[in-house]
Amino acid sequence: MSHPKHEKTLVLIKPDGIQRSLIGEIVQRYERSGLKLVGLKMLVPSSDLVEQHYSLDPSWKKSVGEKAIGSYEKRGIEPPSRDPIEVGDRVLQGLKKYLTCGPVIAMVWQGAHAVEVIRKMTGGTEPRSSDVGTIRGDFVIDSYQMADTDGRAVRNLIHASGSTDEANQEIPLWFGAGDVLSYRLVQEQILYDVNIDGILE
Ligand code: ATP
Ligand code: MG
Repeated sequence: MSHPKHEKTLVLIKPDGIQRSLIGEIVQRYERSGLKLVGLKMLVPSSDLVEQHYSLDPSWKKSVGEKAIGSYEKRGIEPPSRDPIEVGDRVLQGLKKYLTCGPVIAMVWQGAHAVEVIRKMTGGTEPRSSDVGTIRGDFVIDSYQMADTDGRAVRNLIHASGSTDEANQEIPLWFGAGDVLSYRLVQEQILYDVNIDGILE
Protein backbone atom coordinates (compact mmCIF):
# COMPACT_ATOMS: atom_id res chain seq x y z
CA MET A 1 0.00 0.00 0.00
CA SER A 2 1.32 3.42 -0.83
CA HIS A 3 2.08 5.82 2.04
CA PRO A 4 -0.81 8.22 2.93
CA LYS A 5 1.47 11.16 2.09
CA HIS A 6 1.05 10.28 -1.60
CA GLU A 7 -2.74 10.78 -1.57
CA LYS A 8 -3.98 13.25 -4.18
CA THR A 9 -7.23 15.14 -4.65
CA LEU A 10 -8.75 17.35 -7.34
CA VAL A 11 -9.95 20.84 -6.48
CA LEU A 12 -11.75 23.19 -8.84
CA ILE A 13 -12.19 26.85 -8.01
CA LYS A 14 -15.51 27.40 -9.76
CA PRO A 15 -16.21 30.57 -11.80
CA ASP A 16 -17.77 32.38 -8.80
CA GLY A 17 -14.53 31.88 -6.85
CA ILE A 18 -12.52 33.56 -9.62
CA GLN A 19 -15.08 36.38 -9.95
CA ARG A 20 -15.10 36.95 -6.18
CA SER A 21 -11.28 37.37 -6.24
CA LEU A 22 -10.84 34.49 -3.82
CA ILE A 23 -8.11 32.55 -5.65
CA GLY A 24 -5.35 33.64 -3.27
CA GLU A 25 -7.45 33.12 -0.14
CA ILE A 26 -8.49 29.60 -1.20
CA VAL A 27 -4.97 28.54 -2.24
CA GLN A 28 -3.54 29.99 0.96
CA ARG A 29 -5.92 28.02 3.15
CA TYR A 30 -5.07 24.71 1.49
CA GLU A 31 -1.37 25.54 1.27
CA ARG A 32 -0.86 26.36 4.93
CA SER A 33 -2.37 23.04 6.01
CA GLY A 34 0.84 21.36 4.83
CA LEU A 35 -0.61 19.90 1.63
CA LYS A 36 1.46 20.29 -1.54
CA LEU A 37 0.22 21.79 -4.80
CA VAL A 38 1.30 19.42 -7.57
CA GLY A 39 -0.87 20.58 -10.49
CA LEU A 40 -2.45 23.91 -11.45
CA LYS A 41 -4.20 25.25 -14.54
CA MET A 42 -6.76 27.87 -15.53
CA LEU A 43 -9.31 27.03 -18.21
CA VAL A 44 -12.86 27.57 -19.38
CA PRO A 45 -14.27 24.05 -19.27
CA SER A 46 -16.47 22.75 -22.07
CA SER A 47 -19.97 21.50 -21.38
CA ASP A 48 -18.73 18.02 -22.35
CA LEU A 49 -15.96 18.09 -19.76
CA VAL A 50 -18.44 19.06 -17.03
CA GLU A 51 -20.79 16.29 -18.11
CA GLN A 52 -17.94 13.76 -18.13
CA HIS A 53 -16.78 14.96 -14.71
CA TYR A 54 -20.17 14.39 -13.10
CA SER A 55 -20.76 11.13 -15.01
CA LEU A 56 -17.60 9.41 -13.67
CA ASP A 57 -19.68 8.06 -10.81
CA PRO A 58 -22.72 6.41 -12.43
CA SER A 59 -24.69 6.74 -9.19
CA TRP A 60 -24.02 10.51 -8.80
CA LYS A 61 -27.11 11.68 -10.72
CA LYS A 62 -29.45 9.54 -8.65
CA SER A 63 -27.87 10.45 -5.31
CA VAL A 64 -27.76 14.19 -6.05
CA GLY A 65 -31.41 13.91 -7.20
CA GLU A 66 -32.37 12.15 -3.97
CA LYS A 67 -30.60 14.83 -1.90
CA ALA A 68 -32.39 17.56 -3.88
CA ILE A 69 -35.80 15.90 -3.39
CA GLY A 70 -35.00 15.65 0.33
CA SER A 71 -34.18 19.35 0.50
CA TYR A 72 -37.52 20.25 -1.18
CA GLU A 73 -39.38 18.03 1.27
CA LYS A 74 -37.56 19.50 4.26
CA ARG A 75 -38.86 22.90 3.19
CA GLY A 76 -42.40 21.55 2.67
CA ILE A 77 -42.21 22.11 -1.10
CA GLU A 78 -43.28 19.62 -3.78
CA PRO A 79 -40.18 18.68 -5.87
CA PRO A 80 -40.38 19.27 -9.65
CA SER A 81 -40.37 15.47 -10.07
CA ARG A 82 -40.34 12.40 -7.80
CA ASP A 83 -37.80 10.70 -10.08
CA PRO A 84 -34.31 11.23 -8.59
CA ILE A 85 -32.66 10.74 -12.02
CA GLU A 86 -34.83 13.46 -13.54
CA VAL A 87 -34.09 15.85 -10.66
CA GLY A 88 -30.39 14.89 -10.83
CA ASP A 89 -30.43 15.72 -14.52
CA ARG A 90 -31.76 19.21 -13.77
CA VAL A 91 -28.90 19.71 -11.30
CA LEU A 92 -26.44 18.59 -14.01
CA GLN A 93 -27.90 21.06 -16.53
CA GLY A 94 -27.50 23.83 -13.94
CA LEU A 95 -23.92 22.75 -13.23
CA LYS A 96 -23.03 22.81 -16.93
CA LYS A 97 -24.23 26.41 -17.20
CA TYR A 98 -22.47 27.40 -13.98
CA LEU A 99 -19.08 25.81 -14.64
CA THR A 100 -18.78 26.86 -18.28
CA CYS A 101 -19.66 30.52 -17.71
CA GLY A 102 -16.04 31.64 -17.17
CA PRO A 103 -12.56 30.55 -16.16
CA VAL A 104 -12.07 27.98 -13.45
CA ILE A 105 -8.86 26.90 -11.74
CA ALA A 106 -8.12 23.19 -11.54
CA MET A 107 -5.62 22.02 -8.94
CA VAL A 108 -4.19 18.78 -7.65
CA TRP A 109 -3.21 18.78 -3.97
CA GLN A 110 -1.12 16.03 -2.45
CA GLY A 111 -0.40 14.97 1.11
CA ALA A 112 -1.57 12.88 4.05
CA HIS A 113 -5.34 12.38 3.91
CA ALA A 114 -5.56 15.02 1.16
CA VAL A 115 -9.16 14.15 0.19
CA GLU A 116 -10.49 14.33 3.73
CA VAL A 117 -8.47 17.39 4.78
CA ILE A 118 -9.51 19.38 1.69
CA ARG A 119 -13.21 18.46 2.17
CA LYS A 120 -12.98 19.49 5.84
CA MET A 121 -11.48 22.88 4.98
CA THR A 122 -13.93 23.36 2.10
CA GLY A 123 -17.09 22.73 4.17
CA GLY A 124 -20.49 21.24 3.36
CA THR A 125 -22.13 21.57 -0.05
CA GLU A 126 -24.77 24.16 0.95
CA PRO A 127 -23.02 27.39 2.00
CA ARG A 128 -25.99 28.40 4.17
CA SER A 129 -25.21 25.53 6.53
CA SER A 130 -21.46 25.03 5.93
CA ASP A 131 -19.53 25.44 9.16
CA VAL A 132 -18.00 28.81 10.00
CA GLY A 133 -14.25 28.56 9.49
CA THR A 134 -14.64 26.55 6.28
CA ILE A 135 -14.18 28.24 2.90
CA ARG A 136 -17.83 27.84 1.91
CA GLY A 137 -19.03 28.85 5.39
CA ASP A 138 -16.88 31.97 5.47
CA PHE A 139 -17.25 33.31 1.93
CA VAL A 140 -20.67 32.36 0.50
CA ILE A 141 -24.31 32.71 1.51
CA ASP A 142 -26.02 30.61 -1.16
CA SER A 143 -28.60 27.91 -0.41
CA TYR A 144 -30.73 25.18 -2.01
CA GLN A 145 -33.70 27.53 -1.53
CA MET A 146 -32.02 30.30 -3.53
CA ALA A 147 -30.84 27.88 -6.24
CA ASP A 148 -34.31 26.29 -6.58
CA THR A 149 -36.10 29.64 -6.64
CA ASP A 150 -33.89 30.83 -9.48
CA GLY A 151 -33.53 27.44 -11.25
CA ARG A 152 -29.74 27.24 -11.09
CA ALA A 153 -26.90 25.34 -9.42
CA VAL A 154 -25.82 26.13 -5.88
CA ARG A 155 -22.84 28.50 -6.08
CA ASN A 156 -20.37 27.19 -3.58
CA LEU A 157 -16.96 28.30 -4.94
CA ILE A 158 -15.28 24.91 -5.02
CA HIS A 159 -15.43 21.32 -6.15
CA ALA A 160 -13.32 18.87 -4.18
CA SER A 161 -13.11 15.11 -4.78
CA GLY A 162 -15.27 13.15 -2.35
CA SER A 163 -13.09 10.03 -2.07
CA THR A 164 -9.72 8.73 -3.22
CA ASP A 165 -11.47 6.65 -5.91
CA GLU A 166 -13.26 9.78 -7.14
CA ALA A 167 -9.96 11.70 -7.11
CA ASN A 168 -8.17 8.98 -9.10
CA GLN A 169 -10.85 9.19 -11.80
CA GLU A 170 -11.19 12.98 -11.79
CA ILE A 171 -7.50 13.95 -11.93
CA PRO A 172 -6.78 12.33 -15.35
CA LEU A 173 -9.89 14.00 -16.74
CA TRP A 174 -8.53 17.49 -15.97
CA PHE A 175 -4.75 16.90 -16.19
CA GLY A 176 -2.45 15.14 -18.65
CA ALA A 177 0.04 12.68 -17.13
CA GLY A 178 2.96 15.13 -17.37
CA ASP A 179 0.97 18.01 -15.83
CA VAL A 180 0.96 16.58 -12.33
CA LEU A 181 4.42 17.06 -10.86
CA SER A 182 6.39 14.91 -8.48
CA TYR A 183 8.68 16.93 -6.20
CA ARG A 184 9.57 17.38 -2.53
CA LEU A 185 8.90 20.41 -0.35
CA VAL A 186 11.49 21.10 2.35
CA GLN A 187 8.70 21.14 4.98
CA GLU A 188 7.98 17.47 4.27
CA GLN A 189 10.90 16.57 6.55
CA ILE A 190 8.92 18.04 9.47
CA LEU A 191 5.57 16.67 8.31
CA TYR A 192 6.59 13.13 7.41
CA ASP A 193 10.18 12.09 8.12
CA VAL A 194 10.55 9.52 10.88
CA ASN A 195 13.39 11.45 12.51
CA ILE A 196 13.25 15.21 12.88
CA ASP A 197 16.94 15.91 13.20
CA GLY A 198 19.48 18.35 11.89
CA ILE A 199 17.66 21.33 13.45
CA LEU A 200 20.02 22.22 16.31
CA GLU A 201 23.49 23.46 15.34
P1 ATP B 1 -18.65 19.09 -5.19
O1 ATP B 1 -18.77 17.69 -5.79
O2 ATP B 1 -18.87 20.21 -6.17
O3 ATP B 1 -17.45 19.28 -4.32
P2 ATP B 1 -20.45 18.21 -3.26
O4 ATP B 1 -19.79 16.88 -3.37
O5 ATP B 1 -20.45 18.89 -1.94
O6 ATP B 1 -19.84 19.27 -4.19
P3 ATP B 1 -22.56 17.15 -4.91
O7 ATP B 1 -23.72 16.58 -4.21
O8 ATP B 1 -21.58 16.25 -5.56
O9 ATP B 1 -21.90 18.15 -3.87
O10 ATP B 1 -23.09 18.20 -5.98
C1 ATP B 1 -22.21 18.77 -6.91
C2 ATP B 1 -22.51 20.24 -7.07
O11 ATP B 1 -23.84 20.39 -7.62
C3 ATP B 1 -22.55 21.05 -5.78
O12 ATP B 1 -21.28 21.50 -5.40
C4 ATP B 1 -23.47 22.20 -6.16
O13 ATP B 1 -22.77 23.21 -6.88
C5 ATP B 1 -24.47 21.55 -7.10
N1 ATP B 1 -25.72 21.06 -6.45
C6 ATP B 1 -25.84 19.96 -5.71
N2 ATP B 1 -27.11 19.77 -5.32
C7 ATP B 1 -27.83 20.78 -5.86
C8 ATP B 1 -29.22 21.15 -5.82
N3 ATP B 1 -30.10 20.42 -5.16
N4 ATP B 1 -29.60 22.25 -6.46
C9 ATP B 1 -28.70 22.98 -7.14
N5 ATP B 1 -27.38 22.69 -7.22
C10 ATP B 1 -26.94 21.61 -6.58
MG1 MG C 1 -19.44 15.72 -5.17
